[in-house]
Amino acid sequence: MAFIRLDKKAYEHNLKLIASKAGGFDKIICVLKDNAYGHGVLQIAPLAKELGIKFIALKNEDEAQSLKDLFANILILSHIPNGCENEDFIYALNSKENLHKYKKNTKLHIALDTGMHRNGVFLEDLPLVFAEAKKLGLRILGLFTHFANSDEIDSSFFVQRQKFKKAKELASSLSDLKLCFHSHNSSALFRCLKLDEDELCRVGLVQFGYSDFEASLKRVLSLYANKLSSRILRKNESLGYGLSFTAKKDMSIATYDLGYADGLFRYSGKGKLLLANKACLLGRMSMDSFSCEDFGEELCVFDDARIWAKFFNTIEYEILVKLNANIKRILC
Ligand SMILES: *Cc1c(COP(=O)(O)O)cnc(C)c1O
Repeated sequence: MAFIRLDKKAYEHNLKLIASKAGGFDKIICVLKDNAYGHGVLQIAPLAKELGIKFIALKNEDEAQSLKDLFANILILSHIPNGCENEDFIYALNSKENLHKYKKNTKLHIALDTGMHRNGVFLEDLPLVFAEAKKLGLRILGLFTHFANSDEIDSSFFVQRQKFKKAKELASSLSDLKLCFHSHNSSALFRCLKLDEDELCRVGLVQFGYSDFEASLKRVLSLYANKLSSRILRKNESLGYGLSFTAKKDMSIATYDLGYADGLFRYSGKGKLLLANKACLLGRMSMDSFSCEDFGEELCVFDDARIWAKFFNTIEYEILVKLNANIKRILC
């Protein structure tokens, strides 16, 4: 049966590197949304806890419920307020229009729109948001922002940082509490020299070993398939749906038990899509299988999602996060 191998030592290595960059494990918010970027949150979350992580960020309450016993602080990024919020969790305030919809006593971190224009309130709205929250009995514990372009070197990153700096000062003057500030995602953390003293970082992908700014990270996930069957494909015989591959000479081929239903992008048979051993897939991918040369019972499909990301003209995030949660995860 196909499986995912998760390298525990690689994860530890990456988290230690993040901690050294951020200034300690208590300066890290681990983003473990969407099944820990497809890696398997049931396996990854206990590792993060073991290493001393106390703060994580997730997508929604369902994800948070399953991890609430492991972490003292859970920030929920994409919750739609409904008046039934859980006092154990912290919710991102993505829109000031929604303030009155939260249950009294709900803990909030304000998302600040510093230029990405995806979510959040504007700097000039902060006085109103703090005043309204006070009236409604909501607890504002933090302020954060997200960079639109931290993975490319351009000026918008610096413009957004400058705005956030101003917002931190304003928010501090509006609150009786010592607020929690965070802005740096993976690429922002690794492109900056040092994290601001008063900030945590909020990192996802870099935990799993991918960054354009840091070569010493180790990739955590590798995907393996097992052989379903094998045969000799004779010269001029064709293979798979559409018979799109035709053998130029007799060859020993095998079919392996992973396909697009497992969350892989569907390979159409065109172009060279490489496996981890640099061999190519042959013919179109099926729903539950693909074919290639016979490499024995077990085959590493990829241990570097960038190869598939490049081929499919997407980013490694998408290749990883789509991996079906039903694929068995093995931690070693
Ligand atoms: C997903 C997400 C992150 C993590 O981003 P990475 O690039 O994976 O580090 C941080 N903040 C917010 C708001 C996010 O949605």
